[in-house]
Amino acid sequence: MHRLASLIRPNSGEDTRVDWRRLARHIRPYAGYILIALVAMVLATVMGLIYPLVTGDLIDSLLEPNSLDLLNQTTLLLLLVFLLRTVLGLIQSYALGYVGEHITFNLRLQLYERLQQLSLSFFEQRRVGELVSRLSSDVTMLRSILTSNLSSLLEQLLTLGGALLVMLSLNWRLSLFILVLAPVVAVTGRVFGMWLRRYSRIIQDELASSTIVAEEVFQNIRVVKSFTREPYESQRYRGANTKALRAAIRLLQIRSVFSPLISFLGLASIGAFLWFGGQEVIAGRLGIGDLVTFMIYGQLIVGSIGGLVGLYASLQQGLGGTKRVFDLIDETPQVQDASTAIPLPPVEGHITFENVSFHYATGDEVLHGINLEITPGEVLALVGPSGAGKSTIFNLIPRFYDPTSGRVCIDGIDLRTVQQESLRAQIGIVPQETLLFGGTIEENIRYGRLDAAPEEVIDAARAANAHQFITALPDGYDTIVGERGVKLSGGQRQRIAIARTILKDPRILLLDEATSSLDSESEQAIQEALTRLLVGRTTIMIAHRLSTVRIAHRIAVLDAGRIVEAGTHDELMEHNGLYAKLYALQFRETLAPNGATVAS
Ligand code: ATP
Repeated sequence: MHRLASLIRPNSGEDTRVDWRRLARHIRPYAGYILIALVAMVLATVMGLIYPLVTGDLIDSLLEPNSLDLLNQTTLLLLLVFLLRTVLGLIQSYALGYVGEHITFNLRLQLYERLQQLSLSFFEQRRVGELVSRLSSDVTMLRSILTSNLSSLLEQLLTLGGALLVMLSLNWRLSLFILVLAPVVAVTGRVFGMWLRRYSRIIQDELASSTIVAEEVFQNIRVVKSFTREPYESQRYRGANTKALRAAIRLLQIRSVFSPLISFLGLASIGAFLWFGGQEVIAGRLGIGDLVTFMIYGQLIVGSIGGLVGLYASLQQGLGGTKRVFDLIDETPQVQDASTAIPLPPVEGHITFENVSFHYATGDEVLHGINLEITPGEVLALVGPSGAGKSTIFNLIPRFYDPTSGRVCIDGIDLRTVQQESLRAQIGIVPQETLLFGGTIEENIRYGRLDAAPEEVIDAARAANAHQFITALPDGYDTIVGERGVKLSGGQRQRIAIARTILKDPRILLLDEATSSLDSESEQAIQEALTRLLVGRTTIMIAHRLSTVRIAHRIAVLDAGRIVEAGTHDELMEHNGLYAKLYALQFRETLAPNGATVAS
């Protein structure tokens, strides 16, 4: 039994325990629709149970003399039963579908909103594809549980119970005979079907991995050709396909043997039924019409038992999806507003790090006892080797993370005591790499302040040195960008990010300078735009380029999570420490023919 369960359960290791009360809460608002669907379902099932009886009568009527009238009446009744059943089925499936679609819609929104609220640490541990699949396929599975699975469970049980009752009242011997025969036929057929499906899935997976090999090769065709690795790649492709071939042959063997066996089993069971039923007729315990009635009921029962076995598998699958959705909805954001959190009043921009240490959820401490003060309007450049902790310092200011110990304050207010929204409203971030949203350029700039007037958008673009290239595009500000639109260069995207931030007009600015090389014209346009952006704001910038460090009033040098020196460029050069070393390195690289970037 255990082996059977593991065969029909798709993910046998998965915990599928679900809070049913919680599921019920999602259905409750649609109780009216559910009731209609249930009534329709019960009536339709009753109609389904009546029709074998009527058919039996129809057969019997043929045996009577002068039976034409009776035949006409019974046929009419049969048609009426079919018609009613069709209408009821229609009502049931519409009502259930309506509820299902609404539940999916509500849950998807609820899940999406929850996901957005979660902290950055959560997103670092999950893959985007996985989250998207929760939003799409898992939510859909939940719908199928709440609607089709549960209703079909009820329908099959009703059919099974009803058919048995009627059969027992007609002839208990034949009923018992069918009761022994039907499960054997139904379960064998079902289990075989699932077996086949499982093998087909393996074949699909094997084929998918061979497709990945092909994709990889076509994408890297230059590399393959330059190393003349065609024979090697052919070998790899052959290996992946051989596995698919083996699985396909195995499937073929199973199918060739079992398909005829299953159909033989079906036919043999009909033979057995006729043999046993025929004896009952001969013995005068059963009419011919009743024999036909039994035959139809037998089929109904086989269908119901098979349906129930199949339902077990799809219920398990659906419950797995449902649990994953609920688990996500129950995630709590790591960074949360305290219950006593106040809105941060408009700030002057005095930032202090007081003995701040920090480690990410995974890994060792990356900041050790940082003390740093940035006065209002000051421009501080953070420099240091890769992995020193520059981005981590950035992350603590908008509270993407909270310090493990120590505190970060703005205007003397501990950030942990303020509402995140009011804090982030006063901080502008220009990231290293700007990704644009699908939509127009104007919409992308307006992201900085949704209620900005069109002239304000244009002014911001002008200040960001972006107006010129935007107006040179065929559709100007209405040009569609993003995945399906025009591809902008890194420098152009960065200027759009700057325009966005100018529009937001934050008091505090976090600037992560692009590391990728830009052509000198872009470079100059961006420098100009940045200089305009910085005016009157407290700015912390991660500086990778020599020229940017020069805009800063002060430089803090970070090494392995500690601030090792701070001061102006001249002071630091005189100090002849890490900065002077990095500077010398940058200088060398800048002089080198391909060295636009500097060490970071
Ligand atoms: P770079 O100039 O290369 O961007 P950085 O100075 O900005 O480096 P951080 O990104 O702050 O350095 O990283 C500091 C340390 O923290 C590194 O050792 C890095 O591996 C680690 N780290 C960064 N992000 C995470 C994370 N999400 N989870 C765990 N460790 C992290």
